[in-house]
Order: sequence, then C-alpha cells, then structure tokens
Amino acid sequence: MEKVCPRCMSASFANGDTPRLSVILPIFNEEQSLPSLYQRLSQVLQSSKDEYELIFVNDGSADRSAELLEDLAKHDPRVRVVALSRNFGHQVALSAGLDHSRGRAVAIMDADLQDPPEVLLGFLEKWRQGYAVVYAVRKHRKEGFLKRSAYALFYRTFQSMAEIEVPLDAGDFCLLDRRVVDILVALPEHHRFLRGLRSWVGFKQIGIEYDRDERYGGQSKYSLRKLVQLALSGYVGFSLLPLRAATWCGFLSAGIGFLLILWALITRFMEIPSPHGWTSTIAAILFVGGVQLLMLGIIGEYLGRVYDEVRQRPLYLVQSRSGFASDDAHLTRL
Ligand code: UDP
Ligand code: MG
Repeated sequence: MEKVCPRCMSASFANGDTPRLSVILPIFNEEQSLPSLYQRLSQVLQSSKDEYELIFVNDGSADRSAELLEDLAKHDPRVRVVALSRNFGHQVALSAGLDHSRGRAVAIMDADLQDPPEVLLGFLEKWRQGYAVVYAVRKHRKEGFLKRSAYALFYRTFQSMAEIEVPLDAGDFCLLDRRVVDILVALPEHHRFLRGLRSWVGFKQIGIEYDRDERYGGQSKYSLRKLVQLALSGYVGFSLLPLRAATWCGFLSAGIGFLLILWALITRFMEIPSPHGWTSTIAAILFVGGVQLLMLGIIGEYLGRVYDEVRQRPLYLVQSRSGFASDDAHLTRL
C-alpha cells in the first residue's frame, strides 16, 4: 500500500544517491532573481566539489517562477522543484524543503540573493569541523532605516523574552546537519519559527558574520502582516512571558486601586480637600478596560495557536514535484 505523509497528505516516491549538501530555496514570485541566483549558486557549489542538490520550493508563485523552475529541472539533474498548492508562507515553504531534502548537510537561504551563496563555503567548513548548526549573523543590512530598526528591536526583545538562548541578528540563513534536520522534520508543531526551533535543538552551534546584500530584483515578499505574524510566532512560540504579563498588570492595577481607596478614606476622615470629578473615573475605567482587552488579546494569540495545533491540518499541500526519482526511498514518508 502506498504510504501517505501525515503532514502534506501526498503519496510516496523518490531517491537517488545521497548528496552531501542540499540547498533549500523558497520561491514566491522571484522571476527576476531566479536566473542569477541559479548561476551564482551553481558556480559557488561547483567550486566546492561536493555533490549537491538544489531544492526549490515554489510557494504558490503567480509570476513566471514556475516556468523558470521547470526549465532548470529539465536541464540540471541537481535541481528539484516542489510546487505547493498555494502560498503557505515562507516558514512553511522551508519546512517543505526540509522534508524533501536528502543531504548530509542542509542549507537554507533566501532566493533573492540577499544571502550571498559564497557564505555557504564558510558554512561547509564549520560543518566539517563538527558543528551541527552554522548560522549567519547579519553584520550590516542594506535595508531602510525603519525596517532595520524594527528587526533590531525584534531580535533584542525576542532574545530577552525567549526561554532558550537565541543569537542576535541571525535569520534563517544557515546550514544544518542531517541529525538536526531529522529532528526538525519530526517536530509536530504547525507554527514554525525555524530560527527559534534551530536554537532549541541545541548541539554544537556557531555563527558566521556576513553583510546582508540588497534584494537582487523585485520587492520584498514579506508584507507587514506576514512580518508581524512571524514576530508573534517567535514571541508566542518561545515565551510565556506575555501571558505572565497579565498577572503582573493585574497586580499593578489592583495595587493602584487599593492605594486610591486608602487615599479616598484618608481624605474623607481627615477632611482634606480632594479633587472629585468624572475625568479621573473615566481615565481609570479606560485604563483598566484597555489593560483587560490587551490581556484577552494576548491570551487569544496563545489560544488561537493551540486551536491551530489541535485541528491537525496538514502543514502544506504539494501540487507537483520535478527532478525527484520516482523510487526515492528517502521520501517514502512524504
Ligand atoms: N517567500 C516565500 N513565501 C512567502 C514570502 C516569501 O517563499 O510567502 C520567500 C521569498 O521568495 C524569498 C524568501 O522567502 O526567497 C524571503 O522573502 P523576502 O526576501 O521577500 O523577505 P525579506 O528579505 O524582505 O525579509
Ligand atoms: Mg529578502
């Protein structure tokens, strides 16, 4: 009987020789960057003499990316394409790539050449020295002031809130040993904040600094909404601090309320003239009401995620695959 992957609900297939390196590239409308990406990446990887495969995950692109990818797969046996049935988002596309990878080391990078392929050689060197996770740390970013500040703020607050040790300014660009990939693939959670999960795994990890380039072509595919969701996945997925904040706010406003009652009694009995008016009453009601709604919202964020997990829908659906052998034993679990 054909096995069916519990995560993507697709039938079994595929395997050839195990390549040493798999490179996962999520693609969402990247027709402008794709040709240069393929060329630069191939040049770098061919210089390293290791056998490799390029896994392009087409995350529901609406431009000519699918066509370009099919063309690459036709001409280069090292190119594999997994086309998802719609846009599932960057983190899910990366998970699909990890599921389909076979390499003893697996690299993850953006397809817009913001992550320079040359850094992969440094990754491989560290991996050969025995590191299970090698991640890239952004020394400089060539993005607008607002975006840079938002990222800086996120990484700093995330680091101080997270229950695990996470490096500052390290994005998804990294290389993972097969051991780590197998663990990540086996994790059942739907909300995947890979850079957090990667730290959670542990083992020997090291960062390599690099300068993040500008996007090669086109616009960023991360809308503000997607970025906020990603940040929330980080906070909610790796910290219970926001939930505890409700308790602390409760103590604080109850404390202030108690002091105000004391003050009211003192002014009443000692006949100290005190202001009485509705402004302070309204302010207090709005303040406490606002805090309560905020806390409900935070609880809602956690609850929504619990709901997503218990629904157990597949993480993604595959529309088609190219470049995989039809008897690929490695992918029988997919
Ligand atoms: N991406 C994706 N699905 C999405 C959004 C982005 O696969 O829904 C891909 C995109 O094609 C790129 C990578 O994720 O290869 C990073 O996206 P982008 O460069 O737009 O993000 P930014 O660098 O602006 O944060
Ligand atoms: Mg980018």
